[in-house]
Amino acid sequence: MRYVIIGSGAAGLAAAKTIRERDSGGSIQILSHDQGAYARCMLHLFVSGKRTEESLTFVQKDFWERYQVEHIPYTTVTGIDTRRKKVRTKRGDLPYDRLLIASGSVSSIPPIPGLREAENVSGFRDLADAVQVKNLCGTDQKIVIMGSGLVGVDVAYALTERKMPLTIVDMAPRMSPRQTDDVTAGIYQRKFEEAGVTFWFDRGVGSVEKEGNRLTHIVLSDGTRIPCDYLIAAAGVRPNIGFLQDSGIETDRGIGVDAKMQTNVPDVYAAGDVTGLSGIWPAAVEQGRAAAINMTGGDQAPGEIYSMRNTMNFFGIPMISLGIIPETECEIYTEETEGEYGIAAVKDGCILGIHKIGRIDHSGIWEYLIKNKVQGDWNAERIFHISAADFYDFPEDTRSRRAAVRLASEE
Ligand SMILES: Cc1cc2nc3c(=O)[nH]c(=O)nc-3n(C[C@H](O)[C@H](O)[C@H](O)COP(=O)(O)OP(=O)(O)OC[C@H]3O[C@@H](n4cnc5c(N)ncnc54)[C@H](O)[C@@H]3O)c2cc1C
Repeated sequence: MRYVIIGSGAAGLAAAKTIRERDSGGSIQILSHDQGAYARCMLHLFVSGKRTEESLTFVQKDFWERYQVEHIPYTTVTGIDTRRKKVRTKRGDLPYDRLLIASGSVSSIPPIPGLREAENVSGFRDLADAVQVKNLCGTDQKIVIMGSGLVGVDVAYALTERKMPLTIVDMAPRMSPRQTDDVTAGIYQRKFEEAGVTFWFDRGVGSVEKEGNRLTHIVLSDGTRIPCDYLIAAAGVRPNIGFLQDSGIETDRGIGVDAKMQTNVPDVYAAGDVTGLSGIWPAAVEQGRAAAINMTGGDQAPGEIYSMRNTMNFFGIPMISLGIIPETECEIYTEETEGEYGIAAVKDGCILGIHKIGRIDHSGIWEYLIKNKVQGDWNAERIFHISAADFYDFPEDTRSRRAAVRLASEE
C-alpha cells in the first residue's frame, strides 16, 4: 500500500506515525513545501531568540527512520489527479493508493489594493515569515501588525522583547477581543504601551501608500496615516485549498470530510486546519490520527477536543480564558484583588466562561466545570475560591462529581 501525505505539520505527522503503527509494510511518503515538522505555535519564540530553528521541531531526530517515513521537503503540490491517483508536483507526479491532505492554512491578507503584492508584507505562519520578522530586529524599521488576536499579540510581545517599537491596528475595540474583556485587555495593553507599542483600535487599514512595490504608509479607515516599513498581517487564516482546483475534491470553507475524515473522493482523506473544522494544534493531531486509522482499514471518528481554552503570558502576567462570556442573558460575577482580576458568566446554574488574569491555578477545575456543564449555586466566592468541599453540595453518585472533587483537591 502506498500512503502519501501532503503536509508535515501536526496532522500529517500524527497520521504518519499512526499509519506505521497499524501497517508495518506499506510505504509512507510525506511532501511539504518547506522543511516542515516545526511548531508554528513557537514561531514567536524564534523571533524573540528563545528558540533556534532546530529547537522548533516537534519530532525526535530519528522520527523518519524509526517510523520508516520518507520525507520529501521543499516540494509543493500543485494539483491532484484523483482519477489516475497521482499527486502533481513541480518535480513530477507521485502515485498513491491512499492520500491524506494535511496542508494546513494560509494567512489571510485583506484585499486592500496594493497590499497583497507588496514585498514588505507577510503573514506570521511559516518559518519563512518568522525569519523575515526576526531580521527586522535591531533595525529602525517601523513595524505595523494588523490584528491583535493571539498570533498578533504573540509576535508583538516577541518584538517588544527585542526592543522593537511597533504599532498594532485592530478593528475590534480592544486587544484579543475573543479572549479578553475590557479589564484584562486593559492590564496587558498598559504593559505593551510601556514597552513601546502603539495601539489603534476600532479602525482598520483602509488603504496603503507605496514607493515602487514597497509600502511606506498605511492609511486607517478614519484617515490616520501611519509610517510602515513592514506590515505583518495577523488578521486571520483560511484553509490551504488553492491547489485542489479541478481535483473533484469538494471544498467549501475547507475540504469537506465525513466523520471518518474521508473526502467525497474514494481513498482521499483530509485532516487539520485544511478542513476548516478547527484551527488548533491538538485538534489537527486528533484528526490526523483518526484519518490514519481509517486509511488503514479502521473505523474511527476524531475525539472531541475542548477548543475554548486560551492562555497568554506576557510581562510575567498569566491569563486564561475559558468558554464564553456573553454580553447579555447571563449573570456576571467579578472579583478584583491586588494584581488579579476574574470575570465569570453563569446561566441556568452552569458556568459558561471565565477570564482570569494574575493567578490562574484553578484553571483545570474551571475547565472541567464549564466543559461538563456542572450545575451549582455559583457566585464569585464559589467560582474564584473553589475547593473540594464545594462539591459535597452536589447530588451523589455522579461520575462528574467524583471527578470534579478529585480535580479540585489536586488544584
Ligand atoms: C503563529 C501561530 C501560533 C499558533 N499558536 C497556537 C497555539 O498556541 N495553540 C494551538 O493549539 N494552535 C496554535 N496555532 C495553530 C496551529 O499551529 C495549527 O492549528 C496547526 O499547525 C495545524 O496543523 P496542520 O497539520 O493542519 O497544518 P500545518 O501545521 O500548518 O502544516 C501544513 C503542512 O502542509 C505543507 N503544505 C502546505 N501546502 C502544501 C503544498 N501545496 N504542497 C506541499 N506541502 C504543503 C506545509 O509545508 C506544512 O508542512 C498557531 C498557529 C500559528 C501560525
